Amino acid sequence: MTDLTSDLAPDTLPMAFAQLQLAAPLARAVTEKGYESMTPIQAQAIPVVLQGRDVMGAAQTGTGKTAAFALPLLQRMLKYESSSTSPARHPVRALVLLPTRELADQVAQAIKDYAKYTLLRSVVVFGGIDMKPQTIELKKGVEILVATPGRLLDHIEAKNAVLNQVEYVVLDEADRMLDIGFLPDLQRILSYLPKQRTTLLFSATFSPEIKRLANSYLQDPVTIEVDRSNLTASTVEQHFYSVGDEEKRHALHQILKQRGMKQAFVFVNSKLGCARLARSLEREGLKTTALHGDKSQDERLKALDSFKQGEVDLLVCTDVAARGLDIKDVPAVFNFDVPFNAEDYVHRIGRTGRAGAVGLAVTFVSKTDARLVADIEKLIKTKIELEAIEFEEDVPDIRKQGRINDGRRMYAEGAQDDSRHGGHRSGPLRDVAHEGQFARPERSVRRDYARPAAAPRDPFFDKPYEPAPVAEVTPSWEATNAPRHGARSISANIKPKRRVAALFKSA
Ligand code: AMP
Repeated sequence: MTDLTSDLAPDTLPMAFAQLQLAAPLARAVTEKGYESMTPIQAQAIPVVLQGRDVMGAAQTGTGKTAAFALPLLQRMLKYESSSTSPARHPVRALVLLPTRELADQVAQAIKDYAKYTLLRSVVVFGGIDMKPQTIELKKGVEILVATPGRLLDHIEAKNAVLNQVEYVVLDEADRMLDIGFLPDLQRILSYLPKQRTTLLFSATFSPEIKRLANSYLQDPVTIEVDRSNLTASTVEQHFYSVGDEEKRHALHQILKQRGMKQAFVFVNSKLGCARLARSLEREGLKTTALHGDKSQDERLKALDSFKQGEVDLLVCTDVAARGLDIKDVPAVFNFDVPFNAEDYVHRIGRTGRAGAVGLAVTFVSKTDARLVADIEKLIKTKIELEAIEFEEDVPDIRKQGRINDGRRMYAEGAQDDSRHGGHRSGPLRDVAHEGQFARPERSVRRDYARPAAAPRDPFFDKPYEPAPVAEVTPSWEATNAPRHGARSISANIKPKRRVAALFKSA
């Protein structure tokens, strides 16, 4: 594989879009979007895609990746613009595959925006909704088809989509497609495409599976990597607090209050822990809903919707249930449990601080989590400093309430089974806080710890939510007797911000 990354020295960034000499309709759309400089992934990928090379890109959503592949593809496809109404003059030339309905929707919208001053047509197809309207669009003819794999196969089988003139394929969020179990579907889809084509693969990681996929389907790709530490550190304020299991809920209450946060995601590692924690927080007066794999699709959509509408303040969720949920600009993400897989840390905190908005990611670290934190440290190439929490008087001390609630130690058990921790109970804060570099624990501490299997495919991902504005509300941890505001506008903390300076911190 060729690596051109080194040719693009960081000091050449940020590079202005004007230097690209994009065709006028595309340049106009970019200007209208308010983009001036390219993000690192754009500066690296656009020239390469313009040359027609295959690309293997390590970049996540939130880095400007969509424009990095869409703009050069559109530029190369301009020669196919046609004002003819005949479907035959609009064969599918570019196929963009994504793991979830909502990501597909989001990327399709971005492509529509970039192509708005061209005659190129784009359509998105995904599962969970009626095929008929999608079929009508496909039959009219479309140059750019954005799809989730399952629904695309349905359309291929129904002969609604003919892919024998495809010249460009984008496998976006490829790692998540493999996680969800789409490999067989991808293999089938790729078998329908002409061998002579340009293939672009984007993934948060280059795991062995992704490398195998790339070896099978990409030809002499250029590898482009945006520094991972950049992805997590540039726009997200990250804190790792050393707390005992029994102190986590208290710490959560306190940080929410101190920071004046309106909404947050709270991640836990198990379904059981998710349900229990949500119940406990609800009892403690926080408007909370749970999202985990045992919830029915309806319940999950409802939970998500109430979060988006601002009716609940906290969404407590597991990694599997949260995958594919693209709620942008959540002001804070709490890792109530340190994730078992370091990759999940990157996915979790990617929900905050998006597109340049400033986000907060708080991780509660208990004594037995040292190895997991060391894994994260290695992955994000950032030294993690453990901080201690000073508990304040005016935040109700709920540390003992867990036992009162239902006779059990709700939050000691809530997040993870005690057996996973070798029966550990938290000790005093000072025992846990380390100075400087995170110390690795004794091996014996986690002797019975087993990594979970790869995330199973979850049918929920075929049916994500429709975006809706979030009401301006007072979070329940700041509840007063004052009447709640109506749904006037998107909350100040979660409305999309135009400030994107952080995107440009060079790799
Ligand atoms: P993406 O990673 O493609 O989902 O993009 C993340 C966000 O960054 C989207 O809201 C884009 O509109 C925005 N964005 C992409 N490229 C740029 C750029 N060069 N300048 C400013 N914002 C951008």
